[in-house]
Amino acid sequence: MNYYLDNPILKQQFSHSLMEKIVKLKEKNFEYAKEVSIAPLNFEDALDSYDKVLEIIGEICGDIIAPNAERVDLEGPHLENGRVVYAKGTQENLKALTDAKLFGMSLPYKYNGLNFPMIPYVMAAELVSRADGGFANIWGLQDCAETIHEFASEEIKNEFLPRINEGATCSMDLTEPDAGSDLQAVQLKATFDETSDCWRLNGVKRFITNGDADIKLVLARSEEGTKDGRGLSYFVYDKRDNAVIVRRLENKLGIKGSPTCELVFKNAPAKLVGDRRMGLIKYVMSLMNGARLGIGAQSVGIAEAAWQEAHKYAQEREQFGKPINTFPAVYEMLHNMRAKIDAARAILYETARCVDIYKLLQEVAKERPLTPEERTEMKYYNKLADALTPMLKLMASEFCNQICYDAIQVHGGTGYMKDFPVERMYRDARITSIYEGTSQLQVVAAIRPVINETYSSLIEIFEKTELPQEFEHVKFELNTMRALYEHARKSVSNMNSEEMLDLHARRLVEMAAYIIMTYLLLFDALRCSSLKDSVNHFLRYGKAVCVGHLEYIRSDACE
Ligand SMILES: Cc1cc2nc3c(=O)[nH]c(=O)nc-3n(C[C@H](O)[C@H](O)[C@H](O)COP(=O)(O)OP(=O)(O)OC[C@H]3O[C@@H](n4cnc5c(N)ncnc54)[C@H](O)[C@@H]3O)c2cc1C
Repeated sequence: MNYYLDNPILKQQFSHSLMEKIVKLKEKNFEYAKEVSIAPLNFEDALDSYDKVLEIIGEICGDIIAPNAERVDLEGPHLENGRVVYAKGTQENLKALTDAKLFGMSLPYKYNGLNFPMIPYVMAAELVSRADGGFANIWGLQDCAETIHEFASEEIKNEFLPRINEGATCSMDLTEPDAGSDLQAVQLKATFDETSDCWRLNGVKRFITNGDADIKLVLARSEEGTKDGRGLSYFVYDKRDNAVIVRRLENKLGIKGSPTCELVFKNAPAKLVGDRRMGLIKYVMSLMNGARLGIGAQSVGIAEAAWQEAHKYAQEREQFGKPINTFPAVYEMLHNMRAKIDAARAILYETARCVDIYKLLQEVAKERPLTPEERTEMKYYNKLADALTPMLKLMASEFCNQICYDAIQVHGGTGYMKDFPVERMYRDARITSIYEGTSQLQVVAAIRPVINETYSSLIEIFEKTELPQEFEHVKFELNTMRALYEHARKSVSNMNSEEMLDLHARRLVEMAAYIIMTYLLLFDALRCSSLKDSVNHFLRYGKAVCVGHLEYIRSDACE
């Protein structure tokens, strides 16, 4: 089974009008092809290369990772003398992906990467997550390499980045017992050791995914006496220095194959990434934005897997003399699940495109001054990426949970049993709305673009798009939803209360999200007609949410 080839909807992302621009920027107008044998010669060649690599990943997902998932869930990793030993299936998965050179996909050629843009990389993350949501974490933490590449010195880059392609795994060590959502409270201590001319880390981190990784990015307090985020710096640690012990492996609800570790740093030597004091403010924010995109992909992947299972089961299972998918209550569930996945996927790839363009222009700016148009473009896509990322993380992860819940419901009692994979998927889904910033924290980030009207301006741009006659009704309904959203925004603003704004923030963000996601899904449907049904289902569902949310806000305003 090939997870890439069996889902033709994915490929349409490559026919988006921005794709050629992204590929040209990434390949430096195909200059790399003169020096690097694997670099594409032109746009078509690049698409062909993404296609081939995704086909290989799709095959590994379908033939190795997915069949291993149940066994990995049962066995999980274990600790031996303070070191993590992965489940056997996890080791097989890692070997297959390392042998196929699928670590470091987005890294530049000079670090043995494939120099892929975000779109094919995010697609690969979606496929791996569909195969096994827990394993996707271990593979997806290669995101850390992006942060090293973006902010570390040449020396650090040359030391660590080529190892990624050889299968070195990464971890992102931020959370501590007293610093979860509030990372400004991080206490792990970093002191500069003059004798050995390096930084030393001391303290405890908890809930660290893949905490025994080869390469660790660690947030630590380098400025003595400080209490907030401005006293934190970012460090890279090499496992071969043997100064971090895994004290405990968490026993948890889902993603059982993904080791969640409590770590003790004992005088651990580390290197500073970028500038002191910028750890949280700049580097972690950037890393988290990338990781949130990754959780978006993980959510879509798990949800796709759950839908496939539910869809198949509903065709085969008969009650009252007919297949259960002929009952409106069941097919409505399936339609809504499908529509939510397609809409989440639409915002996932749109966000990836925005990240690609602004980051690639940032890279260009390191080599030559940008033209005024390029500068404007970079700022525009940066702002959009910042606005869409929390919206994506919020909506995709919440949808993933709802879809897995419904997937069990479609299975009835059978779904509750360990005999069917939806039980595992339901458990795996639960974490997506918690880590990399809970849903509540995504709302804290996404309420800003509600207030400063970034979402409203984006919707205005969407409204100007010419649409074929068959979608006129969609446009009409979206105009109505926009009016409801603006009305809700005004009502909350008229309350003149920070607390009321916090209280209704999620409702406002969700209203904006349903409008933006319906538009993005509609644009996908223009390139891929099989998405038309999802547009209509998502539109109806989203309008009902908007009406309900406005009514709730109104009743609060009247009290
Ligand atoms: C399986 C797993 C893997 C993880 N992997 C990693 C990892 O690799 N690296 C890493 O650094 N961390 C990791 N984490 C930690 C994870 O990111 C945190 O658990 C998460 O950010 C929430 O922090 P907390 O658990 O301390 O909850 P708290 O911050 O204590 O939150 C508790 C509740 O309060 C709410 N809340 C808190 N502040 C606000 C606010 N300002 N406004 C509204 N609501 C608020 C939250 O939404 C939540 O509902 C992992 C956690 C788990 C469970």
